[in-house]
Amino acid sequence: MDLNTVAAYRAARTRADLALAPGERLLGGGTWLYSEPQVDTTGLVDLTTMGWPALERVGDGLRIAATCTIAELARIPPEPGWGAHALFLQCANALLASFKVWNVATVGGNVCRAFAAGAMVSLCTALDAEAVVWTPDGRERRRAVEELVTGNGTTSLRDGEVLRALEIPAHALRARTAFRKIALAELGRSGAVVIGRVDADGRAVFSVTAAVERPAVLRYETLPEAGALAADIRALEGWYSDPFGAADWRRHVSGVLAAQVREELAR
Ligand SMILES: Cc1cc2nc3c(=O)[nH]c(=O)nc-3n(C[C@H](O)[C@H](O)[C@H](O)COP(=O)(O)OP(=O)(O)OC[C@H]3O[C@@H](n4cnc5c(N)ncnc54)[C@H](O)[C@@H]3O)c2cc1C
Repeated sequence: MDLNTVAAYRAARTRADLALAPGERLLGGGTWLYSEPQVDTTGLVDLTTMGWPALERVGDGLRIAATCTIAELARIPPEPGWGAHALFLQCANALLASFKVWNVATVGGNVCRAFAAGAMVSLCTALDAEAVVWTPDGRERRRAVEELVTGNGTTSLRDGEVLRALEIPAHALRARTAFRKIALAELGRSGAVVIGRVDADGRAVFSVTAAVERPAVLRYETLPEAGALAADIRALEGWYSDPFGAADWRRHVSGVLAAQVREELAR
């Protein structure tokens, strides 16, 4: 849609360009920004002109630029030992969007928009990703994505902060993973996404997103017994209702999906 309050556009090329004037807003792919009125926004500052490499190896881990598109991430080639590789495409597919959105929507924009159904939030949470945040005083701070996202549409990002990258550690990339998603309609927005992970040292991690207002992560020393996992899922808080599912349905199906994920990982 036309943003008819926007009178100026700047292409950012240096970190100094990211200092926002009153009324200015950071622009990733614009797929959400242009999807509804932004009456307080008078200028846009484009992050995609910063020239950040989309995907970089950092040691044995992976650094995803905030400006990496969902399409670029979905196409990432597998590397030897990356048991979690399938998750990149699985999570991209969990975004209710066509290839037109995939090609411009950024991973950082998805995390910063922080919808409960944010597919990149699901991915980052399941893989222990850390958000690298540029602060207005020229420094950076790091925060686990599961903590950066504080609610359905809210984050702990402060005014003037920019999400620079998301870093996935090697141990998570090498893990075995299983993924389940459910939506009320075949191509509907995710009602629940459950991802399980077993690391090389046997530790297990289960993440629940889309069904709860903020990401929920359950961690175990080994793959939990079915009953213990079911009880832990039932005890989670933050189940919510919206047109894409009722809270009690989300709670129930998350338990079913978690059991399936556990079973797949136990094979
Ligand atoms: C048809 C359609 C279907 C969609 N389906 C889904 C869905 O299933 N799940 C879902 O979560 N979303 C969905 N969306 C919303 C949106 O497209 C995605 O969340 C997308 O990933 C946002 O990325 P973007 O780069 O386009 O963000 P933008 O629209 O550019 O920005 C989103 C917000 O994040 C801020 N921002 C962007 N990048 C940064 C950064 N690096 N640092 C700080 N702030 C930043 C912007 O200022 C803005 O407030 C859908 C949109 C459409 C049009």
